[in-house]
Amino acid sequence: MLGEGIVRGMVVTAKNFLGSFVNRDRLTTIQFPEERLPHIEASRNFPFLVYDGDDWQQGMRCVACQICEKECPPKCIYIEKSTQKKADAAGKPQFYPETFNIDVSVCMSCQICVEVCPFEAIKMDNEFEYSTESRFDFLLWDKKKLSKSNEYYRKIHPTEAALVDARLREERARMEAKMSKSSAIKAGPVP
Ligand code: SF4
Ligand code: SF4
Repeated sequence: MLGEGIVRGMVVTAKNFLGSFVNRDRLTTIQFPEERLPHIEASRNFPFLVYDGDDWQQGMRCVACQICEKECPPKCIYIEKSTQKKADAAGKPQFYPETFNIDVSVCMSCQICVEVCPFEAIKMDNEFEYSTESRFDFLLWDKKKLSKSNEYYRKIHPTEAALVDARLREERARMEAKMSKSSAIKAGPVP
Protein backbone atom coordinates (compact mmCIF):
# COMPACT_ATOMS: atom_id res chain seq x y z
CA MET A 1 0.00 0.00 0.00
CA LEU A 2 1.29 3.45 -0.89
CA GLY A 3 2.50 5.32 2.20
CA GLU A 4 2.39 2.21 4.44
CA GLY A 5 5.96 2.86 5.62
CA ILE A 6 5.09 6.41 6.64
CA VAL A 7 2.06 5.22 8.63
CA ARG A 8 4.16 2.55 10.38
CA GLY A 9 6.80 5.16 11.22
CA MET A 10 4.14 7.50 12.65
CA VAL A 11 2.77 4.65 14.79
CA VAL A 12 6.24 3.97 16.24
CA THR A 13 6.71 7.70 16.93
CA ALA A 14 3.28 7.97 18.57
CA LYS A 15 3.95 4.87 20.70
CA ASN A 16 7.23 6.32 21.93
CA PHE A 17 5.76 9.78 22.50
CA LEU A 18 2.79 8.55 24.54
CA GLY A 19 4.78 5.72 26.15
CA SER A 20 7.46 8.15 27.33
CA PHE A 21 4.96 9.62 29.82
CA VAL A 22 4.72 6.27 31.60
CA ASN A 23 7.92 4.41 30.65
CA ARG A 24 11.30 6.17 30.92
CA ASP A 25 12.95 3.60 28.60
CA ARG A 26 10.92 5.08 25.73
CA LEU A 27 12.63 8.46 26.17
CA THR A 28 15.22 8.59 23.42
CA THR A 29 16.65 11.99 24.40
CA ILE A 30 18.03 13.37 27.65
CA GLN A 31 18.18 16.89 29.11
CA PHE A 32 21.87 17.58 28.38
CA PRO A 33 23.93 19.01 30.13
CA GLU A 34 21.97 18.44 33.36
CA GLU A 35 21.61 14.79 32.42
CA ARG A 36 24.39 12.76 30.85
CA LEU A 37 24.49 9.36 29.20
CA PRO A 38 26.92 6.84 30.68
CA HIS A 39 30.36 6.93 29.11
CA ILE A 40 30.76 4.53 26.16
CA GLU A 41 34.21 2.96 26.16
CA ALA A 42 34.46 2.58 22.38
CA SER A 43 33.44 6.20 21.65
CA ARG A 44 36.02 8.52 20.10
CA ASN A 45 36.50 12.13 19.12
CA PHE A 46 39.99 13.61 18.57
CA PRO A 47 43.41 12.01 19.18
CA PHE A 48 45.68 12.72 22.15
CA LEU A 49 49.32 11.91 22.90
CA VAL A 50 49.96 9.44 25.73
CA TYR A 51 52.71 9.99 28.28
CA ASP A 52 53.99 7.69 31.04
CA GLY A 53 54.71 8.91 34.57
CA ASP A 54 54.06 12.42 35.87
CA ASP A 55 56.08 14.52 33.45
CA TRP A 56 54.38 14.94 30.07
CA GLN A 57 57.59 16.03 28.36
CA GLN A 58 59.83 13.28 29.68
CA GLY A 59 57.20 10.56 29.54
CA MET A 60 55.94 11.31 26.03
CA ARG A 61 55.83 8.04 24.10
CA CYS A 62 55.96 9.69 20.68
CA VAL A 63 59.37 9.32 19.02
CA ALA A 64 58.47 11.58 16.08
CA CYS A 65 58.66 8.77 13.52
CA GLN A 66 56.09 10.77 11.50
CA ILE A 67 54.16 7.70 10.29
CA CYS A 68 50.87 9.16 11.54
CA GLU A 69 51.65 12.45 9.79
CA LYS A 70 52.12 10.63 6.47
CA GLU A 71 49.07 8.41 6.87
CA CYS A 72 46.55 10.97 8.14
CA PRO A 73 44.06 11.25 5.24
CA PRO A 74 43.23 14.99 5.56
CA LYS A 75 46.86 15.83 6.52
CA CYS A 76 45.98 17.60 9.73
CA ILE A 77 49.06 16.44 11.71
CA TYR A 78 52.24 18.51 11.63
CA ILE A 79 55.44 17.18 13.24
CA GLU A 80 58.97 18.52 13.53
CA LYS A 81 61.43 15.90 14.76
CA SER A 82 64.05 16.84 17.36
CA THR A 83 67.72 16.85 16.38
CA GLN A 84 68.84 15.56 19.81
CA LYS A 85 67.64 12.54 21.73
CA LYS A 86 66.27 12.66 25.29
CA ALA A 87 65.68 9.87 27.81
CA ASP A 88 62.11 8.54 27.76
CA ALA A 89 60.18 7.34 30.83
CA ALA A 90 62.17 4.06 30.77
CA GLY A 91 65.49 5.97 30.50
CA LYS A 92 66.05 5.03 26.86
CA PRO A 93 67.37 7.84 24.60
CA GLN A 94 64.75 8.67 21.97
CA PHE A 95 63.99 11.36 19.44
CA TYR A 96 60.89 13.35 20.29
CA PRO A 97 58.62 15.81 18.48
CA GLU A 98 59.96 19.34 18.73
CA THR A 99 56.55 20.32 17.34
CA PHE A 100 53.45 18.14 17.21
CA ASN A 101 50.30 19.91 16.10
CA ILE A 102 46.89 18.63 15.12
CA ASP A 103 44.37 20.86 13.39
CA VAL A 104 41.20 19.50 14.97
CA SER A 105 39.03 21.63 12.71
CA VAL A 106 40.20 19.30 9.91
CA CYS A 107 40.52 16.00 11.83
CA MET A 108 37.76 13.58 10.85
CA SER A 109 38.23 11.23 13.85
CA CYS A 110 39.07 8.29 11.58
CA GLN A 111 41.61 6.83 14.08
CA ILE A 112 44.10 5.93 11.33
CA CYS A 113 46.88 7.73 13.24
CA VAL A 114 46.20 5.39 16.17
CA GLU A 115 46.17 2.28 14.00
CA VAL A 116 49.52 3.06 12.37
CA CYS A 117 51.48 4.23 15.42
CA PRO A 118 54.01 1.50 16.32
CA PHE A 119 54.67 3.02 19.76
CA GLU A 120 51.17 3.19 21.31
CA ALA A 121 51.80 6.92 21.52
CA ILE A 122 48.58 8.32 20.12
CA LYS A 123 45.05 7.32 21.15
CA MET A 124 41.53 8.56 20.62
CA ASP A 125 39.96 10.78 23.26
CA ASN A 126 36.23 10.82 23.91
CA GLU A 127 36.03 14.34 25.33
CA PHE A 128 33.62 16.37 23.22
CA GLU A 129 32.78 19.52 25.18
CA TYR A 130 35.18 22.00 23.62
CA SER A 131 33.00 25.07 23.34
CA THR A 132 34.57 28.13 24.90
CA GLU A 133 33.80 31.80 25.42
CA SER A 134 37.17 32.89 24.09
CA ARG A 135 37.74 33.46 20.40
CA PHE A 136 41.46 32.90 21.02
CA ASP A 137 41.16 29.19 21.83
CA PHE A 138 42.39 28.04 18.46
CA LEU A 139 41.64 24.65 16.98
CA LEU A 140 45.29 24.02 16.20
CA TRP A 141 46.36 21.99 19.23
CA ASP A 142 50.02 21.74 20.20
CA LYS A 143 51.80 18.87 21.96
CA LYS A 144 51.16 20.31 25.42
CA LYS A 145 47.43 20.48 24.84
CA LEU A 146 47.44 17.07 23.16
CA SER A 147 49.35 15.31 25.96
CA LYS A 148 47.39 13.20 28.45
CA SER A 149 48.60 10.63 30.95
CA ASN A 150 48.40 6.86 30.63
CA GLU A 151 46.17 6.95 33.74
CA TYR A 152 43.69 9.04 31.76
CA TYR A 153 43.87 6.55 28.89
CA ARG A 154 43.20 3.70 31.36
CA LYS A 155 40.19 5.57 32.69
CA ILE A 156 38.49 6.22 29.35
CA HIS A 157 39.42 3.00 27.50
CA PRO A 158 40.17 0.45 30.29
CA THR A 159 39.95 -2.70 28.14
CA GLU A 160 42.12 -1.37 25.33
CA ALA A 161 44.63 0.25 27.75
CA ALA A 162 45.06 -3.02 29.69
CA LEU A 163 46.04 -4.81 26.45
CA VAL A 164 48.46 -2.02 25.52
CA ASP A 165 50.01 -2.06 29.03
CA ALA A 166 50.54 -5.83 28.80
CA ARG A 167 52.12 -5.56 25.34
CA LEU A 168 54.48 -2.74 26.43
CA ARG A 169 55.47 -4.66 29.58
CA GLU A 170 56.35 -7.69 27.45
CA GLU A 171 58.33 -5.56 24.98
CA ARG A 172 60.28 -3.83 27.78
CA ALA A 173 61.08 -7.18 29.45
CA ARG A 174 62.31 -8.57 26.11
CA MET A 175 64.46 -5.47 25.53
CA GLU A 176 65.96 -5.63 29.05
CA ALA A 177 66.78 -9.35 28.63
CA LYS A 178 68.46 -8.59 25.28
CA MET A 179 70.48 -5.72 26.78
CA SER A 180 71.68 -7.73 29.78
CA LYS A 181 72.64 -10.61 27.44
CA SER A 182 74.66 -8.31 25.17
CA SER A 183 76.43 -6.62 28.12
CA ALA A 184 77.30 -10.09 29.50
CA ILE A 185 78.84 -11.00 26.09
CA LYS A 186 80.80 -7.71 26.01
CA ALA A 187 82.14 -8.32 29.53
CA GLY A 188 83.56 -11.68 28.31
CA PRO A 189 84.00 -14.94 30.25
CA VAL A 190 84.47 -14.73 34.01
CA PRO A 191 88.16 -15.47 34.79
S1 SF4 B 1 41.94 10.75 13.57
FE1 SF4 B 1 42.29 10.61 11.33
S2 SF4 B 1 42.05 12.68 10.60
FE2 SF4 B 1 42.31 12.83 12.81
S3 SF4 B 1 44.51 13.14 13.12
FE3 SF4 B 1 44.14 10.92 13.20
S4 SF4 B 1 44.48 10.18 11.10
FE4 SF4 B 1 44.22 12.40 11.00
S1 SF4 C 1 52.36 9.46 17.37
FE1 SF4 C 1 53.23 7.47 16.87
S2 SF4 C 1 53.20 7.37 14.64
FE2 SF4 C 1 52.93 9.52 15.20
S3 SF4 C 1 54.99 10.36 15.17
FE3 SF4 C 1 54.55 9.75 17.27
S4 SF4 C 1 55.39 7.66 17.44
FE4 SF4 C 1 55.21 8.12 15.23
